[in-house]
Amino acid sequence: SGEKKTWMRQPIIVVLGHVDHGKTTLLDKIRGTAVARKEPGEITQHVGASVVPASVLKKLAEPLRKYFPKLVIEIPGLLFIDTPGHELFSNLRKRGGSVADMAILVVDIIEGFQPQTVEAINILKEKKVPFVVAANKIDRIEGWKPHADTPFLESIRDQSPRTLSLLEEKIYGLVGKLYEHGFEAERFDRVRDFRRTVAIVPISAKTGEGIPELLALIAGLSQQFMKKRLVTSEEPAKGVVLEVKEEPGLGTTIDVIIYDGVLRRNDVFVVAGRNGPIVTRVRSLLMPRPLQDMRMHEGRFINVDLVTAATGVKVAAPGLEDALAGSPFYVVPSDDKVEEYKRITQEEVSQIRFRAESDGVVLKADTLGTLEALIEAMRRENIPVKLADVGHVTRNDVIEASVVKKSKPEYGVILSFNVKVLPEAEELIAKEGIPVFKHNVIYQLLEEYFKWYREFKE
Ligand code: GDP
Ligand code: MG
Repeated sequence: SGEKKTWMRQPIIVVLGHVDHGKTTLLDKIRGTAVARKEPGEITQHVGASVVPASVLKKLAEPLRKYFPKLVIEIPGLLFIDTPGHELFSNLRKRGGSVADMAILVVDIIEGFQPQTVEAINILKEKKVPFVVAANKIDRIEGWKPHADTPFLESIRDQSPRTLSLLEEKIYGLVGKLYEHGFEAERFDRVRDFRRTVAIVPISAKTGEGIPELLALIAGLSQQFMKKRLVTSEEPAKGVVLEVKEEPGLGTTIDVIIYDGVLRRNDVFVVAGRNGPIVTRVRSLLMPRPLQDMRMHEGRFINVDLVTAATGVKVAAPGLEDALAGSPFYVVPSDDKVEEYKRITQEEVSQIRFRAESDGVVLKADTLGTLEALIEAMRRENIPVKLADVGHVTRNDVIEASVVKKSKPEYGVILSFNVKVLPEAEELIAKEGIPVFKHNVIYQLLEEYFKWYREFKE
């Protein structure tokens, strides 16, 4: 008796890659595939995420059986985070890693590696997230004959030898680049040991070629190598705050990815806030209303009593105005544990929001996730950080930077990601001549500062 129910949850998958390499198109294609092939009543839409159910994975894997006879789908599906790119990925943060179980690194096969491809690889390495490479836009290889929604291994049987050799050349270009970054890589159907070799799946997000293999491979790898990580049970939920959003009629809500346990209406939970941990109680749990119900009912969301991992859910609760995206989300198991959970949350967050004694740069960002990404980028370049915090650039930030500027002018700067510079700060910035770097793309913000830094050093 007292045995807790356990189950294997969906792996949480993110899509990363350089701008215009096809991340959004790929996610749209995957969602379209899930909707078109699901069984009646299966739900594919979550808040901030989409699910490819097991039934769809099984249908996609069927034609692959002759190539991969051992493939059996055991997971309940794949949970894809809907918004691709670094910025939201950085909010999937978890102490020492990421809530994402696996990533798809999208690379335009014609363009090859670009700055954000490299940045994504560095982040995945640092967060220890395993990944596969989707070599996208194969339909743009000279002479390619498209075959809509067909496995790659079928489609190549109908391509000319010249087109196939152009494809091989491109793939070996990617293998070489991955090697430079410390990864052995190979086309997926030639990989012998998936623990040592990164698989490259040639796809077209436009025609759908290779999508069956891409999804089957992710399913296969996750159930083979991360079974333990995917087992969850009827425990109090653990998650991460992906976004903080105002909703008409609901006030401030948080979109949460739950990666462990069960979340119920009325559960007491802790999240990090601008001014310390917030303890509050779930007023409602909201899931997207299925499209076919939209005509009959008001509102984009439906109320549910509970959700189980893995899921994306909108949580409405009082007092979330100051909640921080990128914060851990913990259901408090019992009343006497409230202080303990506040402390755990506070400790976790104070490693990201800090003030150090040494001379270093000032970092200001909109979320805990992006702030952490900036700190990690500075560490990679051996640049010290004096102050890291979430929020607009204030007069006090400028004072901190101007103190640093006197002894270490190369660090007497402010990097501001997706936040405002307050008018009170502007005045002092002009007076003290503090360089302020602003951008809402992480790598461009870093590039601008590093460029200035190199020029300064010369
Ligand atoms: P993102 O910036 O990575 O999200 O890239 P998008 O998904 O917005 O794609 C950028 C452009 O590439 C768009 O014009 C897409 O239609 C196009 N695109 C994406 N995937 C493919 C593909 O497989 N083949 C071709 N020919 N075009 C593609
Ligand atoms: Mg996009």
